[in-house]
Amino acid sequence: MGRVVKNLGLYLVLILLVVTMVNMFLTPEETQRQYDEISYSQFLSELEAGHIRILQIRNNNQPGESSAAVIQGEMQNGQRFLTYGLEAGKLADKAAALGVMVTVEAPQKSTWWGSLLTTLFPTLLLMGVWLYFLYSMQGGGRVMSFSKSKAKLFLDNRPKVTFADVAGCDESKEELQEVIHFLKSPEKFTRLGAKVPRGVLLVGPPGTGKTLLARAAAGEANVPFFCASGSDFVEMFVGVGAARVRDLFAQAKRYQPCIIFIDEMDAVGRHRGAGLGGGHDEREQTLNQLLVELDGFDGSDSSILIAATNRPDILDPALLRPGRFDRHITMDRPDVRGREAILKVHMKEKAFDNDVDVSILARRTPGLVGADLENLINEAALLAARHDKDKIGMEELEEGIERVMAGPERRSRLISEKEKKIIAYHEVGHAMVAKVLPDSDPVHKISIIPRGHAALGYTLQLPEEDRFLTSRSDLINRIAILLSGRVAEELVFGDVTSGAANDLDRATQTARQMVTELGMSEKLGLVKLGNKREEIFLGRDIAEDRNYSEEIAYAIDQEVKGIIDACYSKARNILGERRELMDKIASVLLEREVLDGSEFEALMKGDTVDSDGAAPDEAVPPLPESRGDGLPRNGLLA
Ligand code: ADP
Ligand code: MG
Ligand code: ZN
Repeated sequence: MGRVVKNLGLYLVLILLVVTMVNMFLTPEETQRQYDEISYSQFLSELEAGHIRILQIRNNNQPGESSAAVIQGEMQNGQRFLTYGLEAGKLADKAAALGVMVTVEAPQKSTWWGSLLTTLFPTLLLMGVWLYFLYSMQGGGRVMSFSKSKAKLFLDNRPKVTFADVAGCDESKEELQEVIHFLKSPEKFTRLGAKVPRGVLLVGPPGTGKTLLARAAAGEANVPFFCASGSDFVEMFVGVGAARVRDLFAQAKRYQPCIIFIDEMDAVGRHRGAGLGGGHDEREQTLNQLLVELDGFDGSDSSILIAATNRPDILDPALLRPGRFDRHITMDRPDVRGREAILKVHMKEKAFDNDVDVSILARRTPGLVGADLENLINEAALLAARHDKDKIGMEELEEGIERVMAGPERRSRLISEKEKKIIAYHEVGHAMVAKVLPDSDPVHKISIIPRGHAALGYTLQLPEEDRFLTSRSDLINRIAILLSGRVAEELVFGDVTSGAANDLDRATQTARQMVTELGMSEKLGLVKLGNKREEIFLGRDIAEDRNYSEEIAYAIDQEVKGIIDACYSKARNILGERRELMDKIASVLLEREVLDGSEFEALMKGDTVDSDGAAPDEAVPPLPESRGDGLPRNGLLA
């Protein structure tokens, strides 16, 4: 309906525009263009000479006013002329006496509304166009509902997701369960004088199932569910966001008890007074309004606010205080059992071969979150369909894991024999050093098939067990493993390539962290150097606060360089002593393109592997785990 009116309005404006244009161009004066304008005296002499055939006299003014009349006519030779004269009446008599055909036009009566229209019309038109643009800028037909909240209300059409669809985060589910119990039977809690949590904040990295869990809560609770996103409140005009918050809570009040869910909370809940360009009035007002609503002035509310964010660090502290978002539910990256459960959820409605073992898949996917695991299963299903299979097999799932971790294989990328050789030595270098150094994660796979958009080859290390602490020697070993690709290139070819850029980046980062954050440098001691500073405007840290002098900065650089150099020579020694073995493994890798963990193990022991790649694939590392210390792991080495 609104749309029709809008379109109709547009057409009306367009038609009016065209009509005025035509009107403006077709006024009588303009149509007289083909008449030659001549002087009055020339006209008189032409008249005397009898050259004029037809004469037309038109007086545009009101009668009584003495002013010029328009005189136009045609000469005997067909030439048309135009001039202006004063005594039009006498002229007509004279011309008629000379035998010219004379017509006199009555003065045009210009009505008052006509002149009003011609003077006002352009102004009205301009105003119309301006209003139209203003109208459409504010989102079409919603001029009047600008301050209405954009939250979606679900009553009976609530999401069908339940807690059974969310796997591997039992603690989080338990916490939410309690909130839901409250919504269902508040008297049980209020009887004991317990206050109900007003706000629940779901915190965790992207893809860990925060949105999913909130939707499941709505599905379980069986109460009305308002769903909004933080960005719904963000508007260019000051006060609109606050009005929307007010509106949302006012609506919620009518439906209580209910759940309000705000996804991506950081869009509104950002720390006040932060950011570039001062002010940020709009966001602050919105946040203030939210705080007020959360306090629930009359205390009679029984609606619950659930919010999700992956940046709890930038939220305003006032939001997090008790009485507001006092329940924080952390959605962590799932552990091996969690991954197994999530995989099972997503495998439910698909057909799998009998040899598919979910626990093996779970162990091979350290660090992946729920969204990755879902994607993995989907990739495997797509591959199986491409292979024209009825069931998804382990082969497709393995490929799915690698696709999710490193991107799709790109066999079509043409790589010359020489480059292939360099890549093979590079990867074998990584793998051998990883194997030789004690306590490093076992090598699961080496490949020289390009993947994704960057990796030309890769070595996959999978950790053996949960690790929450990392020792200094572990870190040194990691750096050595990272550098060993470069070392291999240098040892074998006497030259180095750009292929080690990512390795060097990660190695340097780790070394710097050791020195500045972990107190692992003897020279600089246990001081934490530098603070990560949030660059609010970009939402990520691009700058570091330096809380140390130039001398210390120099010392840090020296220390980092020292660590890197030491690790480099360590890797060089390891590979230098095993040059022949490296040649042998590299040649097998060149031929086979992919080596799995057990094959590599055998080759390292000096055995040979049969070239048809029939090595048994039982080498599942027991219980790999990736979470914990937050340091870059070697995992996937490019
Ligand atoms: P976010 O934490 O970024 O909001 P989502 O909740 O949107 O992540 O998760 C994205 C998708 O990943 C979900 O739709 C779901 O299919 C899958 N997923 C994530 N975590 C889980 C989980 N714990 N159990 C089952 N599926 C999950
Ligand atoms: Mg989300
Ligand atoms: Zn490398």
